[in-house]
Amino acid sequence: KEEKSLNFIEEIIERDLAEGKYDSIVTRFPPEPNGYLHIGHASSICLNFGLTRKYKGYTNLRFDDTNPTTEDTEYVESIKEDIKWLGFEWKHELYASDYFEQLYEYAERLIKKGLAYVDDSTSEEIAEQKGTPTQPGYRNKYADRTPEENLKLFAEMRAGKYKDGEKVLRAKIDMASPNMLMRDPILYRIKHAHHHRTGDTWCIYPMYDFAHGQSDSIERVTHSICTMEFVPHREVYDWLIEKLEIYPSKQYEFARRNLSHTVTSKRKLLHLVTAGYVSGWDDPRMPTIAGFRRRGFTPESIRDFCERIGVGKRENMVDMSLLEFCAREHLNKIALRRMVVFNPIKVVITNYEKGSELLKAENNPEDPNAGYRDISFSNEIYIEREDFMENPPKKYFRLAPGQMVRLKHAYIIRCDEVIKDDAGNIIQLNCSYIPESKSGEDTSGIHVKGTLHWVNAKEYITITVNEYDRLFTIEDPGSVENYTAYINPNSLNVVPNALAEPSLQEAALEHRFQFLRKGYFVLDKESPKDKLVFNRTVTLKDTWAK
Ligand code: ATP
Ligand code: MG
Ligand code: MG
Repeated sequence: KEEKSLNFIEEIIERDLAEGKYDSIVTRFPPEPNGYLHIGHASSICLNFGLTRKYKGYTNLRFDDTNPTTEDTEYVESIKEDIKWLGFEWKHELYASDYFEQLYEYAERLIKKGLAYVDDSTSEEIAEQKGTPTQPGYRNKYADRTPEENLKLFAEMRAGKYKDGEKVLRAKIDMASPNMLMRDPILYRIKHAHHHRTGDTWCIYPMYDFAHGQSDSIERVTHSICTMEFVPHREVYDWLIEKLEIYPSKQYEFARRNLSHTVTSKRKLLHLVTAGYVSGWDDPRMPTIAGFRRRGFTPESIRDFCERIGVGKRENMVDMSLLEFCAREHLNKIALRRMVVFNPIKVVITNYEKGSELLKAENNPEDPNAGYRDISFSNEIYIEREDFMENPPKKYFRLAPGQMVRLKHAYIIRCDEVIKDDAGNIIQLNCSYIPESKSGEDTSGIHVKGTLHWVNAKEYITITVNEYDRLFTIEDPGSVENYTAYINPNSLNVVPNALAEPSLQEAALEHRFQFLRKGYFVLDKESPKDKLVFNRTVTLKDTWAK
């Protein structure tokens, strides 16, 4: 077997372990609970959890819940469910909000060292004083406050003495740094808001830069992996850890992975939900883990996808076709084959006199352990309307007047007569069957090129089928302002009354199906018992017109 080359983070870890810097590693996946996880998060999950599967150590799930106004426990629950479904287990479930007291104490530590001060400036004034990337900024008079004064003011901020925006706590670093984030970054802001976990205990909240690295350090995370936009934050990360003299976690950055024909920003996904473009975060067209799950993707196929796109330093667009390919690869191995007719036309087999019989049908030719099922056959069946043509072109191998086809798992039939209504619509095909042509014991010597799926007109169930397609018509809707203008108007086609073999009534959410010649399908989680709903995961082949 070919040795897989290491990604750059694995190289760093192997070097660190070889040098004895660590005996084992700790990583974390740090979602902000302000939305459902999407496919981009899946690659971060696979990376973080994958590393501690490969190397000795563990991964924490840490909710980065320092922004009270956008966060919610609904999101916390969905995130946990999605990670488990993907097949990963975290060591500790942690919340940055659990460190609020500790973070407050760290802030006091900086104040006492003269490395942080309370600033009364407005956000506009602060922005102005920061300067520009080519021009140094300057400090205002508040930077001269003594540690005693700062400690008192900071305590008053915490006690609720001031309104939102009246004061902030800033680190005292370097107003001339080429890195704008180092120009006395804000550590705390006042926000009189209810937090989903801490309630009304706090009215000051730490900024990302004063929460993330400190949380990593508290948890003794060895390798803190984040996306490239945090590269400029690394200097602040390291500075704070050094000045606080706390455990030196290290930040490493990798490039975001974007999926074509969809958006992966939680803000935009939330908009699709609230504006009603989709039915919810778990709409099968959404690029969320919950959406892919409801659509019928398997955890294996998503993990395979993340493995294939790999880890890199340069941001890139991954085509949706690759994810669909991964789904087909796995579903082909596990899906139970079933026959469903979407748009029926009745076929009467005029010389079939047995009444009915049971035929043996294999559940999955790719899996010998999948076994067989019985399907019933009679003199009346349905085939797909599009599998018949009255005046076919040359090389048409489906059913046509005088032409023969095989019915899957059953017999060869020939079309003898086309019955029409008064308006000239074809309503029935009269056919005859070849008794010696039964599948598996065919002695007829007749060879036909076409094999059709069918259902017994005397024994079937009616189901609803949702045929999903890509949500956006353009490759990169994330790059345009008016992305909703590019929503695919045909992203959902409902087949209201498809006819299915009765065994589908036993379908469960964990089952995967291939409807012969149609694609891969899964039971919808909100399917009514008396009329099941199936979602199309992917077609059998890549049919997207590029
Ligand atoms: P969004 O832009 O959708 O709001 P986010 O980065 O703000 O995403 P978080 O909840 O903070 O969302 O993300 C948790 C982790 O997932 C972070 O470490 C983040 O870097 C990573 N992540 C988010 N999106 C992607 C992506 N497209 N590719 C790879 N990793 C991602
Ligand atoms: Mg984030
Ligand atoms: Mg975000």
